[in-house]
Amino acid sequence: MRWLPWHPMAYFFSRFFLSGQASTTETEIGPMRLTQDPIQVLLIFAKEDKQSDGFWWACNKAGYRCNIARTPESALECFLDKHHEIIVIDYRNPRHFDAEAICRSIRATKPAEHTVIIAVTLQVSAGQEEASVLPLLHAGFNRRFLENNSIIACYNELIQIEHGEVRSQFKLRACNSVFTALEHCHEAIEITSEDHIIQYVNPAFEQMMGYQKGELIGKELTELPKSDRNHADLLDTINTCIKRGKEWQGVYYARRKSGDNIQQHVKITPVTGQGGKIRHFVSIKKLCCSNDRSKQTYRIHHDEKCTGDQFQSDSHSFRCKNRRKESIDAKSITSQSSDATSLQNHRYSSIARIHSMTIEAPITKVINIINSAQENSSVTVAEALDRVLEILRTTELYSPQLGSKDDDPHTSDLVGGLMMDGLKKLSGNEYIFSKNMNQNQSVPVTISDAPPCIAHLLDNEESWDFNIFELEAVTNKRPLVYLGLKTFSRFGICEFLNCSEATLRAWFQVIETNYHSSNSYHNSTHAADVLHATAFFLGKERVKGSLDHLDQVAALIAATIHDVDHPGRTNSFLCNAGSELAVLYNDTAVLESHHAALAFQLTTKDNKCNIFKNLNRNHYRTLRQAIIDMVLATEMTKHFEHVNKFVNSIIKPMSSDESNSNNDSGDCEYTHSLKNFPDNQTLIKRMMIKCADVANPCRPLELCIEWAGRISEEYFAQTDEEKKQGLPVVMPVFDRNTCSIPKSQISFIDYFIMDMFDAWDAFAYLPGLMQHLANNYKHWKKLDESKCRSLRLPSENNLGS
Ligand code: AMP
Ligand code: ZN
Repeated sequence: MRWLPWHPMAYFFSRFFLSGQASTTETEIGPMRLTQDPIQVLLIFAKEDKQSDGFWWACNKAGYRCNIARTPESALECFLDKHHEIIVIDYRNPRHFDAEAICRSIRATKPAEHTVIIAVTLQVSAGQEEASVLPLLHAGFNRRFLENNSIIACYNELIQIEHGEVRSQFKLRACNSVFTALEHCHEAIEITSEDHIIQYVNPAFEQMMGYQKGELIGKELTELPKSDRNHADLLDTINTCIKRGKEWQGVYYARRKSGDNIQQHVKITPVTGQGGKIRHFVSIKKLCCSNDRSKQTYRIHHDEKCTGDQFQSDSHSFRCKNRRKESIDAKSITSQSSDATSLQNHRYSSIARIHSMTIEAPITKVINIINSAQENSSVTVAEALDRVLEILRTTELYSPQLGSKDDDPHTSDLVGGLMMDGLKKLSGNEYIFSKNMNQNQSVPVTISDAPPCIAHLLDNEESWDFNIFELEAVTNKRPLVYLGLKTFSRFGICEFLNCSEATLRAWFQVIETNYHSSNSYHNSTHAADVLHATAFFLGKERVKGSLDHLDQVAALIAATIHDVDHPGRTNSFLCNAGSELAVLYNDTAVLESHHAALAFQLTTKDNKCNIFKNLNRNHYRTLRQAIIDMVLATEMTKHFEHVNKFVNSIIKPMSSDESNSNNDSGDCEYTHSLKNFPDNQTLIKRMMIKCADVANPCRPLELCIEWAGRISEEYFAQTDEEKKQGLPVVMPVFDRNTCSIPKSQISFIDYFIMDMFDAWDAFAYLPGLMQHLANNYKHWKKLDESKCRSLRLPSENNLGS
């Protein structure tokens, strides 16, 4: 091998690498730590002389490895073998070899990209012009060294080169590993200059956007088509921010070459370079899960070498983590002006902070669980879960959006009238309550002392078909106190409350007195009816089996008080009228809050009627809470929430438990297991009082018709008053001159009753009620079809005839 060291000491040095002196050096480039081996130097000198010796010994002194080559061929061969960092070529004597040609031949090789080549030239003699180094540079030399055989001069030259260019080149070579990483990265990466000229895109970027890198590199981002689905303000704001050197991340719509819009999670990082200025923007992009998956299939092909597992993680990396951060990619940044306000910046940095918070609300947990499930699910399942997430993110989870039923004015009026609070707010005259100040009338202390006609009627009190209107008639519109005493006695309420029957009677009297007998529907007969239905439901095996005695007591008390002091007007009316109550309860669950609050005030303000007076504090608080919860559950704005929760938590698990037989006597393990879950008991109690409250369409036909007439009359009276007072008419279809009661009942049953009673029947087993409901529905349908318009007022007493 001709390039082997020729010097007597050379063999020793090249074999043992100047042992004791040759050492590795540690260098850092960015966050990367590199270890640099001892420098290798190739001396290309045709003949040994003092100059070549000078370099040789200088290498020795500096701890570099050194080779010497005598001919152009051996020089090239040696270089290709060792890849020296520094090459010194003797340029002094053109007769020995063509130094420029050697330099060019070496430069032409790939490993020479990072090599420093020095030309040793003759000293400029006195009076001679200094020659330009340009021809040398053009030939591929990096430096010129003026002949100087002093070892220290050679040494100085070499170590300056090492600390300067060699070290820089070494760092640059390390960047190749970084580029390799970028090329294989699954996230799309784009690097632009500070003025948004694309400098680099990786293969994942090409695949995501559908472009070849040749079509992108060198282009300004503004030249590429943008998606029009981004918020214009946002782009300005973020542009301003990243230009200030801050990183931005979030969601952004980009347009693929094909024209498709895709939603990406984008992180844009400004990179500071020379002069401490921003020199690049690096954008890292992942697809959001909300993109149409059918359009995303391209992303899974790009790494064909992936194993199954790798592929899995590939798709993971693109699936979104459900962050809904507003964002941008560099494309839009360039196209947007940067005059956004600091207020906007503040707003967006707040959004970023909020997104980084872990709010452990149950809904957050649910969303997180779904997100994790998406990670490992098929595209079909992930798509379905995307839709689930969309729904969960809406606030009104339990309010159905009116679809085709929307077209029916009866339904939309009922829904609007019963389910909305204070939507049509007007400042107007306040509604003045007309209190029912029925004169006290003697009521027996114990129910066993009731007059025979009443006692006789009450014998049938446990039957669903019990006629509450007859009781209303024989009690002179005081059915609540009589039915109440009988029912409460049956359920051992006085024993539970540790109160006398006299106290209970006084309480019923106070409560009944505070119902308005002037209301055609919301009077104490309705309260008695709801109490009757509640007691009936409590007698059902599954209901009884899943509730505790305290729940039964709470349910019966709640039913009794649930509409006390009802003004015969809806919540919407009170809100529109700016009534005292609406103001007091901030237009929210106005009546229901009032019923519960007033009932407790009436009960506790006088010991004579305070049925709670002997309860200990804990019992009282638990009972009070259960009562309030049930009364508030009668608010119709929450109708679908309560029904859906009941179905999801009680009915669905029950149906999947095949051991449960759906019959009245089935006292199964499931029912008892419900007792262990207070939340489930709460759902059952809410559902029970809700069903009891609107059970009138499930009563025998003649009772159902009477109730329909009464509620209609109350609505008509409200419409009359709204018109009179110039208030918004909440339910225009309930105009006494035009209303079709059958239509309104069909709508009410379709929209509120049918599903709810299906669910309640599935739990409590109520075949009798369901039969009535079906019959009644048929009745209204028949009437509607025959366009019978004679059903106007209950006083006409010809409802349904
Ligand atoms: P509450 O005010 O507690 O009795 O709540 C029940 C709601 O259902 C009330 O807004 C009633 O007006 C309404 N409602 C009850 N029965 C009927 C019916 N047969 N037709 C229309 N609305 C009814
Ligand atoms: Zn009611």
